[in-house]
Amino acid sequence: MSTITERLIEAQARIDSAAAQAGRVGESITLLAVSKTKPAEMIREAYLAGARDFGENYLQEGVDKIDALQDLDIRWHFIGPLQSNKTRPVAERFDWIHSVDRLKIAQRLSEQRPSGKAPLNVCIQVNISAEQSKSGVNPAQLPELAAAVAALPGLRLRGLMAIPAPESDPEKQRQALAQMKQLFDALKAEHPGLDTLSMGMSDDLEAAVAEGSTMVRIGTAIFGTRK
Ligand SMILES: *Cc1c(COP(=O)(O)O)cnc(C)c1O
Repeated sequence: MSTITERLIEAQARIDSAAAQAGRVGESITLLAVSKTKPAEMIREAYLAGARDFGENYLQEGVDKIDALQDLDIRWHFIGPLQSNKTRPVAERFDWIHSVDRLKIAQRLSEQRPSGKAPLNVCIQVNISAEQSKSGVNPAQLPELAAAVAALPGLRLRGLMAIPAPESDPEKQRQALAQMKQLFDALKAEHPGLDTLSMGMSDDLEAAVAEGSTMVRIGTAIFGTRK
């Protein structure tokens, strides 16, 4: 068995066991394999081992891999920061974006989404740790942005994404994740179609699953450390 296959099985086992502990089923949580900086051949290995959702952060790198792996039935997720003048390749080539945090970006993605394709799946990124430099809408502005995004014809609002600031105190780590779950539930009351809470990475996936994540974004634990 390849290392990637073994690591993927291990990551899935972590998800399943965290889900079981929380009284949830593992199938309610999607494993998004974050392949940024890793070559297309590693993605192919993970695909052969069963992964179907892959996340990329850098536009040109992501598009190159989409081109190289056209023979595979992959759902491509754009999860990195996006400038408003760079939206077109995301609208045209990806299936999901997790990092929408401004209406202008959402409007451009909607306009540029090819009419022959299903609407682009969108998670709004929330700046849950109130970090000055971080991307993400602040929670107070979330309802307004969500309503505007939900009204755009080229997009389908699926939920929320967060990258909580690293916390050495597990209690504080859990707080940010729990706040995200509250924001998600409140928004879902307005938008019943929401089904995705994208949170949890290699180091905090157990806590994220315990707090209600439905999609964990796992890079290092599957593909190894990045340069
Ligand atoms: C890189 C990245 C991940 C994966 O992080 P790991 O710690 O390697 O699992 C998840 N989400 C986003 C937005 C990322 O940029």
